[in-house]
Amino acid sequence: MSARTTLPGSLALALQFFENFSEHCLASLETARENGRPIAGVYCIYAPLEIIRAAGCVPIGLCGKRQDPIQAAEAVLPASLCPLIKSSYGYAETDTCPFFSAADFIIAETTCDGKKKMYEFLGRIKPVHLMHLPYEQTLAGARDFWDSEVRRLAEYLTAHSGVAVTDERVRAEVDIQNSVRELLWEILRINADGPPLLCGMQLLPVFESKSFMVEAQPYLAALRRLRDELRALRLGDASKKQDKRPRILLTGTPVGKGSHKVLQLIEESGAVVVCLDNCSGIKGLDRPVPTDGDLCANVARRYLEIPCACMSPNPGRMATVETLCQDFGIHGIVDLTWQGCHGFNVESHCVSEGAQRLGIPFLHIETGYSESDTEQIRTRIEAFLESIV
Ligand code: SF4
Ligand code: SF4
Repeated sequence: MSARTTLPGSLALALQFFENFSEHCLASLETARENGRPIAGVYCIYAPLEIIRAAGCVPIGLCGKRQDPIQAAEAVLPASLCPLIKSSYGYAETDTCPFFSAADFIIAETTCDGKKKMYEFLGRIKPVHLMHLPYEQTLAGARDFWDSEVRRLAEYLTAHSGVAVTDERVRAEVDIQNSVRELLWEILRINADGPPLLCGMQLLPVFESKSFMVEAQPYLAALRRLRDELRALRLGDASKKQDKRPRILLTGTPVGKGSHKVLQLIEESGAVVVCLDNCSGIKGLDRPVPTDGDLCANVARRYLEIPCACMSPNPGRMATVETLCQDFGIHGIVDLTWQGCHGFNVESHCVSEGAQRLGIPFLHIETGYSESDTEQIRTRIEAFLESIV
């Protein structure tokens, strides 16, 4: 059964831009390369995009979301490792991702143990600049250290591009990234402010596109077009329609095209995902970079405050989940953990405690990228949704 909502023509057109975004992106990367802009591969939302772009480079997301390259990765990495790490490494090892091929170097961060050890092998394939990320967000020493890591990154990038990271250039990029965050946030809110206009599967390519922006202005224009289409529908008759589908918050590990199994199963089972609380979704989008004072320091602080499970403690995750449940009228929380991801797996208990406090049904799913457990998960989701209604 297809869970996709049928859309009016102009909204479908606005959405199409994002569905075909990787093709636009590859073409724009080619132009960027011809113009002498180095391509920086990134794997994580701790990579400070404003600094990379201010140095005249193009950051591009390389996170592996498909099962195909995992077998090749397992020749080097343990099979028990998180599928996202194996998929990412497998693409590099087999040279089957055009974005990885296009990258001149990799900007990596010491987030979870599996990822930072994988980068050691990745460094045999492409140059890797490793940023050392503290696991504490409030200690003055941790903040100072991350600040120095962000400035060390700027020096590394300038050495490649020949472009100095000036205040003026950082300010321009901060304005762009703040606009992207604000527009994505508006899109999500308008969509969920009443019967959802788009389901989670339709929102997924929109949110994923943020890791593939090359030229800012056409991208911002496409986001504005989608926002305006949704707003016009919301102000029209759409808000009067009845929608009995349970509204789900999908939280936990990143999800993308290719690793969308759980998202799709939730919607095929009759619910609608109105909010994606993960780093491929809204994580960090509610945190703009302040535009007064030392911009480089502001960028560093903003990124360190991202509430990923690699932080310890990670109070921002629970605070975010609770706020989202209230703001988005959530009926059920599904917490997804990729197998081998200890951080999100352990943290799931805290999310379940938060759900209990709010009186919202909670389901934890631990799985990999393979389809082998699809029917088993479907049965669990169907039983969960029955408990909601
Ligand atoms: S889950 Fe955390 S470590 Fe993994 S990509 Fe997202 S922000 Fe980075
Ligand atoms: S999902 Fe977990 S184990 Fe996998 S890369 Fe992200 S933080 Fe690391």
